[in-house]
Amino acid sequence: NDAQGVTVIGLGPMGQAMVRTFLANDRPTTVWNRTPARAAPLVAEGAVQPATLAEALHANDLVILSLTDYQAMYDLLDPVGDALAGKVVVNLSSDTPRRSREAATWLADRKATLLVGGIMVPAPLVGTDAAYVFYSGPRPTFDVHEPTLRLIGKPDYRGEDHALAQVFYQAQLDIFLTSLSAYLHATALLKSAGVPATTFRPYAAALFNDMASYLDQAAESVDQAHHPGDLATVLMMGATADHVATASKDAGIDTALPNAVKSHYDNAIAAGHSTNSWTSLYEVISTPPF
Ligand code: NDP
Repeated sequence: NDAQGVTVIGLGPMGQAMVRTFLANDRPTTVWNRTPARAAPLVAEGAVQPATLAEALHANDLVILSLTDYQAMYDLLDPVGDALAGKVVVNLSSDTPRRSREAATWLADRKATLLVGGIMVPAPLVGTDAAYVFYSGPRPTFDVHEPTLRLIGKPDYRGEDHALAQVFYQAQLDIFLTSLSAYLHATALLKSAGVPATTFRPYAAALFNDMASYLDQAAESVDQAHHPGDLATVLMMGATADHVATASKDAGIDTALPNAVKSHYDNAIAAGHSTNSWTSLYEVISTPPF
């Protein structure tokens, strides 16, 4: 089904990038947006913009949503319920895993099938080799539409549970967002001592490159709930976490992030993990002692 058409609903930066990718691959592409004017450049490039949302749904079996959140899906689709029967709705909007599961039921009640997706690159990288997308939902439905979805980015199917793509998306963003804040916080600490960010850059870059090696043993330790102490014990690293928090306070910079990290060590020590490895923090992170 090389020429399978697709309907894209939601024309923010991400939706627009997907439409352009489908057009570049000669896929008949129907578009719809709450603010119709946003479709104009895409129509000039070959997309079809029907007068009504129902017509946009009618145009193709495959309907991709690229909206701010799942509430936007209900706002748009609730009034056109009948037009959803038989459709495959691929929701590439971010939201919580719970809302993804609820959406699967809501769409099933309207005889439509949900695939949940999470795009892992910014809009300019859509359709490039760098792009990959998590999916979850019914495998046979995914398999039918995989050739079309592949145009957006490399598909990574995570399983039948609709929540999975969203959880994978958020787990990656959890690391990404926290790391970016940690980098900026560390930069602020150094700048408080008169060191420019550009001087710190290569040191931070080297650490980011090395970070993956810390995961070699960590994943097994976490899965086995076995955290044998080594040179880097919770007690030793907790003292360092305390020094970072205190240095931040002394420097007059924001202390929320180092205090959060310090609290993991404090809780692990209180739970008896002092002589275990840092991976034992997992136990107090996954089951907070309060
Ligand atoms: P935007 O928030 O810019 O897109 C908003 C789209 O949703 C617009 O089409 C907007 O319509 C529509 N919309 C929002 N609220 C409603 C509503 N209540 N009813 C109807 N339509 C609504 O997001 P992006 O395009 O940047 O991203 C889309 C999704 O992709 C998001 O979930 C985002 O998290 C995810 N994503 C984005 C990335 C990026 O780099 N941009 C990267 C990875 C994921 P209107 O034009 O009328 O306002």
